[in-house]
Amino acid sequence: MEAETDPSGNLALVRERMAKAASKAGRRLEDITLIGVSKVHGPERIAPVIAAGLKDFGENKVQEAAAKWPALRQSHPDLTLHLVGPLQTNKVRDAVALFNVIHAVDRDKLAAKLAGEIAASGRAIRLFIQINTGEEAQKAGVLPAEADAFIARCREEHGLPIEGLMCIPPLDEEPALHFALLAKIAERNGLEKLSMGMTADFEKAIALGATHIRVGTALFGERPKPAAKAPQG
Ligand SMILES: *Cc1c(COP(=O)(O)O)cnc(C)c1O
Repeated sequence: MEAETDPSGNLALVRERMAKAASKAGRRLEDITLIGVSKVHGPERIAPVIAAGLKDFGENKVQEAAAKWPALRQSHPDLTLHLVGPLQTNKVRDAVALFNVIHAVDRDKLAAKLAGEIAASGRAIRLFIQINTGEEAQKAGVLPAEADAFIARCREEHGLPIEGLMCIPPLDEEPALHFALLAKIAERNGLEKLSMGMTADFEKAIALGATHIRVGTALFGERPKPAAKAPQG
């Protein structure tokens, strides 16, 4: 289904799909948070969705978010901003200042840096650990076999209150297998939140227990392709 150019109409459609999936799964709609992933889109496209009542938004780059969101937030200080992309340690301070939820904690160096910056800022940042369920070399996230130990280190060594797990399934595999694996790892580690499901597969994610779905295209339309980058030296 093609997303039309009316973002607030799209929001109603996505909420209908969520409601259907939740009801089919015997789950309550209010236990599932819709995150509008607004990466690449400008304020003119985001503002109507804010006006239509969505409270949670996601971005995948700290710098892009820092350029867009302070202005958008001024009239809506109650918005929750989620970082859904990988985080470099040199951007942790900016990320902690801007975001409310970070979905891609995936290594000790990052966990340690986050612990320090969160303590220094006094902000209550909610944290998800990204699991590389497809064991893809190019993808961020902790390998499934290393997940339990990393979750334990985040809690015990870094003192981080981990809230849940996040995954991005490989493009060419059945996402349900990855959602089920993520749910299993969360359950055995006593984690209640699952950030999984995007435009193409969020109904499946809801069926398998998603508490946070990350939806871009169905809300904001197709993303413009980034211009080809000049090779970097
Ligand atoms: C872009 C992105 C999404 C949204 O993808 P759509 O297919 O457009 O819904 C979700 N999660 C992450 C991590 C993303 O980078």
